[in-house]
Amino acid sequence: MNKYQLFIDGQWVDSESGKTFTTPNPATGQPLAEVAEADKADVDKAVAAARRAYEGKWSKMSARDRGRLLYKLSQLIEQNASQLAEIETADNGKPIKESLYVDLPQVVENFEYFAGWSTKIEGETIPVPGRMFNYTLREPIGVCGQIIPWNFPLLMAAWKLAPALAAGNTIVLKPAEQTPVGAMELAKLIQEAGFPEGVVNIVPGYGETAGAALAAHPGIDKIAFTGSTEVGKLIAKTAANNLTKVSLELGGKAPNIVFADSDLDQAVAGAMMGIFYNQGQVCCAGSRLFVEESVKDQFLGQLSERAGRIAVGDPMNKATQMGPQVSAEQLDRIKGYVDIAREEGATVVAGGATPHLDGPFEKGYFFTPTIFADVKNDMRVAQEEIFGPVVSVITFKDEDDLLRQANDTIYGLSAGIWTRDITRAHRFAKEIKAGVVWINTFNVFNAASPFGGYKQSGYGREMGRHALELYTQVKSVWVDLSGRPIGWFGK
Ligand code: ADP
Repeated sequence: MNKYQLFIDGQWVDSESGKTFTTPNPATGQPLAEVAEADKADVDKAVAAARRAYEGKWSKMSARDRGRLLYKLSQLIEQNASQLAEIETADNGKPIKESLYVDLPQVVENFEYFAGWSTKIEGETIPVPGRMFNYTLREPIGVCGQIIPWNFPLLMAAWKLAPALAAGNTIVLKPAEQTPVGAMELAKLIQEAGFPEGVVNIVPGYGETAGAALAAHPGIDKIAFTGSTEVGKLIAKTAANNLTKVSLELGGKAPNIVFADSDLDQAVAGAMMGIFYNQGQVCCAGSRLFVEESVKDQFLGQLSERAGRIAVGDPMNKATQMGPQVSAEQLDRIKGYVDIAREEGATVVAGGATPHLDGPFEKGYFFTPTIFADVKNDMRVAQEEIFGPVVSVITFKDEDDLLRQANDTIYGLSAGIWTRDITRAHRFAKEIKAGVVWINTFNVFNAASPFGGYKQSGYGREMGRHALELYTQVKSVWVDLSGRPIGWFGK
């Protein structure tokens, strides 16, 4: 079993309390790694180190050199991608095919993309009237606390670290307690790339202790969080005490919409991608599947048949399409929602149970791809985020009926639509209240394209040039060019 210490001020150190925690392999339930457990005292140390680094070497480094460090890191990750992918799969349970061909390439892409931005962060000159010259400086915010979830452990670290570093901030990152290993391996590469001490500090630990200490810390200038809406609200409240700047990427209950005029084959594959990818543990998952009434039976028949053929099992096997859920708690939560669905009058037309797996996987946290039919949009299974491979199928009559239902949710992270009617597709993109819309596709990402939520799915946009807004602040500078005294008060 691997052991990891905390990464603070460029050093590997035990926690002040000496405590550690064990993270299991979700495919087997067996211990995977023993990790030092940070809490408030360690967060204090990490914030102090990040402050020293911010005031010291890091702020004096040229933008070009910062960019080169980020690029070096992207290359190191690429060189170690297959090993990191295996670690990610062991810690999170996602199929190795996903870790290797999606997560790791996107991690590399994000560091590479933001490496390029380092030298392109600029102020502006403003054409103010009279004798004045006015320009802006776009400066880093300072010390950033970043709290990330367990569903894409390395990718979420990349979304947070890359723009913050490109803009010249220093960081205290807290990985999720369920999946700390990837971030600790990333710390080794950050060290190897040559980032100055204290620029990135990584403090694995629990949310209520290490996470809460970070959100409440007066030495933090900005807190960035990805996770549940419930915890997001807690963080915003805590951060309000110091008016720490906050950005939040929270839950979702995305409508994925199938019109009768769509290519049904494509739409079925898209619906599956929308909900079964990463075991459904995706904040933008298409968990409310709206199907036009006239094609419901045909669509549901195809979807159930294909969901039943999904290969669930050993995530290290390249043929596996779905691995285990991340934890026993998540598995229990999902099972709870299957009971709720039945009580509410929905019909389970596929899955709804744990699969029978032999050998080491008997104790893994596996669940079968699950489809609920006869769901009404006001049922709990259609309103609450389940975060598992569980989709609620809801029917609609026409566009008005659809839009009313699709927007009837507290969330607004993403939405998908399947249709051959181009005007309908764009009309929908305009009318839906969500931060991301996919037309005849789903779950597509690129480091250059912004991602984030409307409504209770959060605020702020990650990736693309928009991410730089989260990690910079604007200073307006006025210069009197006339060389004459201000006349206002006379002599
Ligand atoms: P989930 O419910 O999917 O596990 P959470 O929102 O609980 O998602 O967790 C996302 C991240 O937030 C994790 O790193 C977790 O440790 C952290 N976290 C949980 N509770 C708190 C809290 N009260 N304050 C700060 N961070 C927290």
